[in-house]
Amino acid sequence: MDEKLEAETGYVYDVRPVGMSGEGEAATVSVETPVMAVPASPSGLKVWPGGEKAFLSWAETDEASAYVVYRAEGNGTGFERVSETEDTEYVDVGLQVGNTYIYKVSAKNTVGEGECTREVSCLSGEASELRLWETASIIGTPGSWNGEGNTCDKAMDGDIGTFFDSDVSTGAWVGLDLGRNTRAMVSRIGYAPRNSTYAKRLKDGCFQLSEDADFTSPVTLYTIDVTDTESGTITYRDVDARKPYRYVRYLSAGEGSSGNIAEAEFWGFPVELAGQEIEFAEIPVKTLDERSFDLQASASSGLPVVFSSSDADVAQVVGEKVYLKASGTCEIHADQPGNDEYGTAERVSRTLVVSPSAISDAVSAGTLWEVRPLRNAGYWRVVYHGQAKELRATVFDLRGIPVADVHIEKGSVDLSLAAQPRGVYLLKLTDGRSLVVNKLVNY
Ligand code: CA
Repeated sequence: MDEKLEAETGYVYDVRPVGMSGEGEAATVSVETPVMAVPASPSGLKVWPGGEKAFLSWAETDEASAYVVYRAEGNGTGFERVSETEDTEYVDVGLQVGNTYIYKVSAKNTVGEGECTREVSCLSGEASELRLWETASIIGTPGSWNGEGNTCDKAMDGDIGTFFDSDVSTGAWVGLDLGRNTRAMVSRIGYAPRNSTYAKRLKDGCFQLSEDADFTSPVTLYTIDVTDTESGTITYRDVDARKPYRYVRYLSAGEGSSGNIAEAEFWGFPVELAGQEIEFAEIPVKTLDERSFDLQASASSGLPVVFSSSDADVAQVVGEKVYLKASGTCEIHADQPGNDEYGTAERVSRTLVVSPSAISDAVSAGTLWEVRPLRNAGYWRVVYHGQAKELRATVFDLRGIPVADVHIEKGSVDLSLAAQPRGVYLLKLTDGRSLVVNKLVNY
């Protein structure tokens, strides 16, 4: 008996008869050990109310082949089994508006059914279906055909007599950004053509949802498949978004369609999320020979911060590491997109100044330039020992913005940073032939 085997694993045995004259021909036997345990309870059960429906979702569970959804009314006793599904989401329909429903989900496989999740309650009809536009901002392809003013906002002004006629012939769109802390379960869309002549331009136009403003992986809710949508009235379609989204849009996908929509309506149930903020300290000046450094920032939600660079030629960001590529300045952005509980954090950007090479301290006595602090804090004397006449001293703050710029007369000048905030400054000295950068620490 072979006892130390793993569950759900295939094993192959060679079996050979052994006699006086040696081993005989081998027979191969393969066995597959069965699943040994019931799956754990699914994590992350979410229930979104949506009028007479409830939208459930949960995380995929190892070893599960299906999930069982249970529902109870009111006080949480008397759970009944409402569905068994292989998906990780479920839409419960036909609910009584104003009732509280409680859900739990278990995972099962051939061995059996695992423990249920914690119970999550949902007050059906808690929110009433709203036209989504009150607090939203209108987004879309800007511009109008021939500059006639029929811009994308005309499709969201509540006036069926005005329309969007884009200067983009194919792929024009108009949508809504519901805001950093708002998502919505879209339940219904509506639309009206510019007029009956242009109704055909709505064909193949579609209504989409997205997690990001660029609609990089959109979810298409509904596509208009006729050329004769009635004009002068809004045509409504019920849709099931299944989860809340921040961005919604109408995309006029038809060839040469140019938008040509009088009104695009989105209706649904807004979901307010908790806010979060990013803490990201200023970045000290870096020199190119440092090559790389690590970024540190945190979000008040505890979710991981995502970094990016505005100019990969100056600095490239990989995870939390910055690789310095060239001298110059760029912005390092810190973002946190949010999740089902938290909204999107406001982006925090910090300027990264990459200087060409290590900067010598102001006290170092060069052969050409001498920079020394004076008795009064915030004052320096710059002395030039060379022959050139075109002398200039420029002081930059850490963002690379000049705060002082002087011609040096008679080979010497006194600089003052007394009126500037405390901190580190860069002093650039030129004599028309060479350039020296010093560091000034303004106490
Ligand atoms: Ca309109």
